[in-house]
Amino acid sequence: VFNFAAGPAILPENVLLKAQSELYNWRGTGMSVMEMSHRGKDFLSIIQKAESDLRALLNIPSDYDVLFLQGGATTQFAAIPLNLCTPNDAVDFVVTGSWGDKAFKESVKYCKPNVIWSGKPEKYTKIPSFDDLEQNPDAKYLHICANETIHGVEFKDYPIPRNRAGLLVADMSSNFCSKPVDVSKFGLIYAGAQKNVGPSGVTIVIVRKDLIGNAQEITPVMLDYKIHADNNSLYNTPPCFGIYMCGLVFEDLLAQGGLVEVEKKNSKKGKMLYDAIDESKGFYRCPVEKSVRSLMNVPFTLEKSELEGEFIKEAAKEKMLQLKGHRSVGGVRASIYNAMPLAGVEKLVAFMKDFQARHG
Ligand code: PLP
Repeated sequence: VFNFAAGPAILPENVLLKAQSELYNWRGTGMSVMEMSHRGKDFLSIIQKAESDLRALLNIPSDYDVLFLQGGATTQFAAIPLNLCTPNDAVDFVVTGSWGDKAFKESVKYCKPNVIWSGKPEKYTKIPSFDDLEQNPDAKYLHICANETIHGVEFKDYPIPRNRAGLLVADMSSNFCSKPVDVSKFGLIYAGAQKNVGPSGVTIVIVRKDLIGNAQEITPVMLDYKIHADNNSLYNTPPCFGIYMCGLVFEDLLAQGGLVEVEKKNSKKGKMLYDAIDESKGFYRCPVEKSVRSLMNVPFTLEKSELEGEFIKEAAKEKMLQLKGHRSVGGVRASIYNAMPLAGVEKLVAFMKDFQARHG
């Protein structure tokens, strides 16, 4: 089976098999990771290795904390303004899709955000030219969603934050660890694990240390970065098994040669699929501007939209699953995260050509 779901999504087979082999008895302890104390030395070794492997993968500078949290990226939509802003602080948002829009709407409760650019009038198919952005120098930070999972729009480069503190904040949920990132350009990066790096239930926050410790008074203890940083993500019971799974994925990504190699594979898969769409003479169409097409989520429509249901059904029969576009936009969406092998994209492209030959 090739699973093209947007998340929870495909994970590397070797990682799942390794987890299976350790499920009942982790390294001779006679216990599953699910059964261990989160304060015991076994789990401590798991979470510490997960963090150090992630630091190695993304080359995370030492003045950044790595937090393993819960509540999904959605919880961070509130936690970020609660930790970084006073209620009266302005924040700039560049909204390039539904997720950026949701982050903006949640932050309205905790600061004074302002959308300085929105792709909505053009149905979220573009990224703005950075020179045209009218940033507020008094904004606390500039927020972007690095990859819009539903609309398939991905930043290939990042705007320079023109606020006084020079802070850029990014939701990287759906392209986390899919390519190298210069972490030092960001004040904070956050990501739900369930696309590229693990099961749902783990949320990773990478935050510059000097930004921690000024949370608003109303901040729930579970959303206060200082509490989690001071306790090495062990203030309360963390999602132990999920963190273990993320650790196995980080180890696997390092074994593949790190994110430079991972990006090469992702570029090859993306090119193959977008070429197939563009060469179909309009039978398939991707609305996203070419230069900002996501390497992770590839949305497309069929010229004969009445055939989309048939396309998805036939693909499923051929063991290519979860190709339905998000309910808000319809069409087809192929998510081709790190763990999707080239063979999966080759099979999809062959199916698309065959489908077109039969219905074109
Ligand atoms: N941000 C992006 C880019 C997403 O794709 C998602 C979920 O798909 C979210 C945020 C919300 O994440 P969660 O469901 O972990 O709260």
